[in-house]
Amino acid sequence: MTDCLFCKIVAGDIPAALVAETDHVIAFRDIAPKAPLHVLVVPRTHVANVTEAAAQIPEVLAEMVAVAQQVADAETGGEYRLIFNTGEGAGQSVFHVHGHVLGGKHLAWENA
Ligand code: 5GP
Ligand code: ZN
Repeated sequence: MTDCLFCKIVAGDIPAALVAETDHVIAFRDIAPKAPLHVLVVPRTHVANVTEAAAQIPEVLAEMVAVAQQVADAETGGEYRLIFNTGEGAGQSVFHVHGHVLGGKHLAWENA
């Protein structure tokens, strides 16, 4: 997709602080971190959200979870929260599926 921010990061046209990559997935630091660890895990292929990812590229979605675990293993002793905002009303602003990997502090649950 030509007008997709995360496709541009995947292509290297927009710089990002990469922390991990595989054949199908990249992980880079969120530009506005909400926790000491805040990394975005993104497939190289453009799909809009986690529902489409599960239907169209399930193996890659599983790889995204494995990469999230690897990042957490390296940075937070293996503990993390993985969030997929789905739809504008749920906070999604970039419509190229991405898992937010959050951790590195006690994460409250009550208002999640
Ligand atoms: P969403 O709101 O769609 O769930 O998440 C999009 C995330 O992308 C936000 O947390 C936002 O801070 C992050 N973001 C937006 N623009 C950029 C950028 O240019 N570079 C990086 N690394 N993160 C970005
Ligand atoms: Zn895209």
